[in-house]
Amino acid sequence: MNINDKVERLIRPEVRQSTAYSVPDSAGFIKLDAMENPYRWPPEVIDRWLEVLRDVPLNRYPDPGAPQLKRRLREAMAIPPSMGVLLGNGSDELIQILLMALAQPESRVLAPTPTFVMYEIIAKAVGMDFIPVPLGADFALDTPALCAAIEEHRPAVTFLACPNNPTGNVFAADDVEALIRHSDGLVVIDEAYFAFTDVTFLEHLERYDNLLVLRTLSKLGLAGLRLGFLVGNRRWLNEFDKLRLPYNINSLTQASAEFALTNRGLLDEQVTCIRAEREQLFLALDSIPGIRAWPSETNFILFQLKRNNAQHVWNTLYSSGVLVKNLDSAGDALQGCLRVTVGTPAENRAFLNALRAAV
Ligand SMILES: *Cc1c(COP(=O)(O)O)cnc(C)c1O
Repeated sequence: MNINDKVERLIRPEVRQSTAYSVPDSAGFIKLDAMENPYRWPPEVIDRWLEVLRDVPLNRYPDPGAPQLKRRLREAMAIPPSMGVLLGNGSDELIQILLMALAQPESRVLAPTPTFVMYEIIAKAVGMDFIPVPLGADFALDTPALCAAIEEHRPAVTFLACPNNPTGNVFAADDVEALIRHSDGLVVIDEAYFAFTDVTFLEHLERYDNLLVLRTLSKLGLAGLRLGFLVGNRRWLNEFDKLRLPYNINSLTQASAEFALTNRGLLDEQVTCIRAEREQLFLALDSIPGIRAWPSETNFILFQLKRNNAQHVWNTLYSSGVLVKNLDSAGDALQGCLRVTVGTPAENRAFLNALRAAV
């Protein structure tokens, strides 16, 4: 038996049929494709951070429960004291843990689309069916269609990214609450972009026992740390915790996240710059003939090439050293669309100049 036959026999078909998540090589590029905060810390803050790391005992396993970090998170994020917190190696890991706990024959995952791709990728990886329900006009929730789909498919969980990626908008609170009330499954509100909007559903947790709120420090400015957290009723989190691998949050991440949250003012200043720069970038984008941009409550902007030349424009930007995300191949609502992360003022200018030339 050759190795191909062995792979065919041993590896699950849904794994063989999928492709690994690909990240383009970005060395030397103006990197505006992954919703990263473009700012680093001032040298004196980096020095203080390195002092903290000096004391981290790398010969020991990390603190498994990370109680100090959790306390800091609770303060920094105003997490309701009655709610539990589960830490993940990025919020991606928490999506994986949650779906591993829910996966059983016939159990399904539902989400309005287009949305964050990992819900579908992880659902399929654990053998669950993914039910996409198209968003309505201006990427608002199509509540009647969603309620009908929830009744028909009885999903174990519905994911709502709010603000949504890649569309950048928040959903109306009334629509979201209608869905929560209509669901006998879990509803996870993914607030990865909480820093860039004033909308949050944390306060709703006490009212709905099927609601969970997912957050991450990635978009806030700490993507390299890989730290996400799930907030909700401890009855759910205790179950998910059984599937969390021991020591999933490494010692350097625990110490660094704690340090960063103690210096939250710095991150907040960066966020304030990014939010102001986002408004400038939106106005500039929307004024380019042939481009339609959507208002955003995140740190990125979705825009459409009205002449449907997205691939050509992406290639031209790439040749000019600017990396953005091409969403054209996702089709449907995203036809002709690219997504650009808000960078520094200089990066945004370089992007806009390259874009004007490309269009
Ligand atoms: C970026 C993103 C995530 C992933 O966050 P990590 O914590 O870096 O894994 C989750 N949800 C949405 C909607 C995102 O855009």
